[in-house]
Amino acid sequence: MAPGSSTCKDVVDSRIAFVDYDTTTSNAEWRSSSSGKSATSLRGNPRTPFKDDVHELLECSVCTNMMYPPIYQCPNGHTLCSNCRVRVPKLCPTCRYELGNIRCLALEKVAESLELPCRFQNLGCHDIFPYYGKLKHEKSCKYRPYSCPYAGADCSVTGDIQFLVMHLKDDHKVDMHDGSTFNHRYVKSNPHEVENATWMLTIFNCFGRQFCLHFEAFQLGTAPVYMAFLRFMGDEEESRQFCYSLEVGGNGRRLIWQGIPRSIRDSHRKVRESQDGLIIQRNLALFFSGGDRQELKLKVAGRIWKNTEVDAGY
Ligand SMILES: [Zn+2]
Ligand SMILES: [Zn+2]
Ligand SMILES: [Zn+2]
Ligand SMILES: [Zn+2]
Repeated sequence: MAPGSSTCKDVVDSRIAFVDYDTTTSNAEWRSSSSGKSATSLRGNPRTPFKDDVHELLECSVCTNMMYPPIYQCPNGHTLCSNCRVRVPKLCPTCRYELGNIRCLALEKVAESLELPCRFQNLGCHDIFPYYGKLKHEKSCKYRPYSCPYAGADCSVTGDIQFLVMHLKDDHKVDMHDGSTFNHRYVKSNPHEVENATWMLTIFNCFGRQFCLHFEAFQLGTAPVYMAFLRFMGDEEESRQFCYSLEVGGNGRRLIWQGIPRSIRDSHRKVRESQDGLIIQRNLALFFSGGDRQELKLKVAGRIWKNTEVDAGY
C-alpha cells in the first residue's frame, strides 16, 4: 500500500460517501412505496432530520448549490453537480481521480423525489414542488423578479417593481409623472437619423401603479417609423385591467391608438416587433410636425384608464 495520508483519507472519504448514499436511497425508496406518490410524501411535514440529511447530501461539494439531475460522481463516489462537472473538466475536485462520465442515478432519484421551495421564496412565494415541477413553475412564478424595462442600453438589473422604479429614476434618470393623462412633446432636430434615434422612456404613476411610455424611432422593413406604446409595470394578468389611448396629429389630421398596456414581462423588443402600439410613418410624422420637414415636433397626448366590463369585451 502506498504511503501518504492523502491516499488513506481518500479511501475513508469515499467509504463514508458510499454509506451515506446507500442509506438515503433506501429511505427514499421506502418513503415512495409507503406513501404511493413520492412527490407529495413530504408535503406539510415539519423539517425532519431525515430531510436535512438529504439536503446536505444533495449539496454539491464544489459550489454548494443543490444538485439536480444529471448528477455526476468520480470513481470514488464524490458527487458534483452538472455545472461544476463542466467547469472542472478532468479531475475530481475532492480526490483528484479522473472524473470520467459516471452518473449517480440513485442520488438523481432522490433529488427528483424531494419537494423543494420555489427559488423565489424570499420574494414571497410559498409554493413547494417536486424538482421538475419547480423548474416549470419558476419560469412563470408571479414572484420572480422583473427585468429593468429601460430599453436604450443593455441593463441586467432585476428586482420588484418598487425597486425598479427607484432604479429607473436614479440610474437611468427617467422622468416620472403623476396622473393618468399626459401631453408629451417629442422634438428631434434631425429626424432622418433613424439609427441614432434616442429611446425615450417616461414613467406614469396612476391608480397606484406605474406605466412606461416608450417612444422611439426605428426602421420597419424599409420604412422609417416612430412608435409609441405603453407597458405596465406588473404582470400580464393585471395589465389587462387597464386601457390607454395615444393621439398624435397636426394640420387638421389625427392618428388615435387605443390599446392595452403590455406587461414588462414582455421584453421591449417583443412589444416593438409585434407592433402593438401607435406607429407613425416618418412622412406623416413630418407632416404633423409642420414647418419645413427638417425637424420632428410631435405632440403625443395620452390617457390611461381602468378597464370596465364593457371595454373588456373587445
Ligand atoms: Zn456544483
Ligand atoms: Zn473523487
Ligand atoms: Zn414561485
Ligand atoms: Zn436598468
